[in-house]
Amino acid sequence: MIVHSLADLARARGRLPGTVAFVPTMGALHDGHRELIRWAGKDADHVVVSVFVNPLQFGEQADLERYPRTLEADAAICDAEGVAIVFAPSVSDVYPRPLEVSVSTGRMGRIVEGEARPGHFDGMATVVAKLFGMVRPDKAFFGQKDAQQLAVIRRLVEDLNLGVEVVAVPTVREPDGLALSSRNRFLSGEERSTALALSRALFAGRDAVPGGAEAVLAAARPVLEEAATAEPPLLPDYLVLADPATFDPVEPGHRGPAVLAVAARVGATRLIDNLPLEF
Ligand code: AMP
Repeated sequence: MIVHSLADLARARGRLPGTVAFVPTMGALHDGHRELIRWAGKDADHVVVSVFVNPLQFGEQADLERYPRTLEADAAICDAEGVAIVFAPSVSDVYPRPLEVSVSTGRMGRIVEGEARPGHFDGMATVVAKLFGMVRPDKAFFGQKDAQQLAVIRRLVEDLNLGVEVVAVPTVREPDGLALSSRNRFLSGEERSTALALSRALFAGRDAVPGGAEAVLAAARPVLEEAATAEPPLLPDYLVLADPATFDPVEPGHRGPAVLAVAARVGATRLIDNLPLEF
């Protein structure tokens, strides 16, 4: 069932007995989203999916306007996956008036991806907090694909005691390694070939784990540098080895979990990817 208004959501939600798993999305659903929905379905009595392109988390107006919107196809995927409620509100449903109170994600929201996209994590955390309040889920499912988002959401839930269990789902990739993303549809064939350097760099880094943190970065960096000379070129934004909980860069000689995260632009499209590693 698809609902748009908060009142219709509340009515439909009230009729769901048992546990509810929530999958927040911005639509243009692909097999990565489908994987989240499947995990959610195995872990709760009902699944609620939201489809909302949140203006608050976009820096550039052009990026917001260009974001793909495919609600009919999204609803069909959700139907096929047995989703109980697709919640697709309008901007004015979610933001009937300018917010006076919103979420600040602090330092965590300003580093790495947050440095490249000022305000992004505050906007994302604010809408997730609002959506949690609207949907009232027991659990919520997020992709490892957006590793810093996952870290910020975990802190949001802990720091504000939101009482939602956060579950991380491994990144779904194309057979050649490219992480699925709603933005991949913007890539030309040549741009897509160049974009494969992101996952190649991550895999090269993973292979170097026995050599330690520095070895991982030293193995991944040249893959990006080479792609920077390709046609069309890759324009790397960052390559970091970060603490998965805080996203602070790890120290040399680091032991324990870390996430190797990369962001780059190919043509007009900005892509991110990461791999969780264990040292
Ligand atoms: P988005 O619609 O891009 O905001 O993504 C909605 C959710 O799907 C987020 O939790 C993402 O991390 C997750 N997601 C996006 N791409 C993938 C992927 N390739 N594999 C797994 N999860 C993903």
